[in-house]
Amino acid sequence: MADTFKALMVTKTDDGQSVDLKDITDAELMEGDVTVAVSHSTVNYKDGLAITGSAPILRASPMIPGIDFSGEVVSSEHADWKPGDQVVLNGFGVGEGHSGGYAQRARVNGDWLVKRPSAFSDADAMAIGTAGYTAMLCVLALEKHGIGPKDGDILVTGANGGVGSVAIALLAKLGYRPVASTGRPEEADYLKGLGAVDVIDRQEFAEAGRPLGKERWAGAVDSVGSTTLANVIAQTKYGGTVAACGLAGGMDLPATVYPFILRGITLAGIDSVMAPRGIREEAWSRLAKDLDLDKLNAMTTITGLGGVEAAAADIMAGKIRGRLVVDVSA
Ligand code: NDP
Repeated sequence: MADTFKALMVTKTDDGQSVDLKDITDAELMEGDVTVAVSHSTVNYKDGLAITGSAPILRASPMIPGIDFSGEVVSSEHADWKPGDQVVLNGFGVGEGHSGGYAQRARVNGDWLVKRPSAFSDADAMAIGTAGYTAMLCVLALEKHGIGPKDGDILVTGANGGVGSVAIALLAKLGYRPVASTGRPEEADYLKGLGAVDVIDRQEFAEAGRPLGKERWAGAVDSVGSTTLANVIAQTKYGGTVAACGLAGGMDLPATVYPFILRGITLAGIDSVMAPRGIREEAWSRLAKDLDLDKLNAMTTITGLGGVEAAAADIMAGKIRGRLVVDVSA
């Protein structure tokens, strides 16, 4: 009999979808040239959308969700990988159209894998996960557009979330002055512990504002979108850069062109899913250098495969603070 292993499966039903923990075999995984013994995965906002069925993220049924994982290669027909290699996967449609990380094994295209930096354990790599790797991409975008620590305050929206928490820790370590915008002021001590120099109420950005506001931010990392992003752009200083990666507050952007044509603002779009390997490797090696592991631990909670469904509902309700790691052996 073939070996079985645990997997969380989402199956479309007549009135929605069911989420079940099952024992499956390799035959139920999708095509790929590398098989990985998955150690850890995470619950990201997109996983929350997929598991609660709030958005059509899953493109097959049944499907194993989970957009990221870390683990060890067990077999490979890909030239870059051999058994025993420690790897990380973020995105590339895994956990969307291709079976994902909420299983004790994954079979994927070897081109999608990145070597796990030796500075991180499997659990650390997933405490970072797609949210943290995306935060690094945002910080790299600020750097590439010439925004340095001396230029002024950097606003981080969605501060208590995964992207926001890691962005604050990274910016603080690099000498920037991150200002946290949050709807959870009771978490101010947590945010200051990560390195936020100030904590402000996200309500300040929630109502439609003027096309050009007072110049407050040298740059910003925005995971909220919509009116919040429009207001952040309108308050960015001359020549500043806003790295936009998320839509936790909505996918629209009710802005004007004034900040772009009168203040030379750059809106830097951040995509982690299809980012080419070079930028992924740069992001992971910078994380190994610039992320404080004590701060990473302070923002991380661990659950098992059995806790994923409840965690997905919590992340959609904005109740998760920082990062939620899934130990797939538990
Ligand atoms: P989280 O749910 O962990 O964080 C989102 C945070 O946004 C919340 O904690 C909350 O912070 C804030 N928030 C939630 N709802 C609202 C709202 N209605 N209005 C204003 N603020 C709100 O998610 P992640 O950090 O994992 O992801 C953040 C966003 O980035 C998501 O939209 C996700 O899809 C996107 N993303 C995009 C990627 C890409 O490749 N472009 C990759 C990874 C994530 P607080 O309580 O502090 O206010």
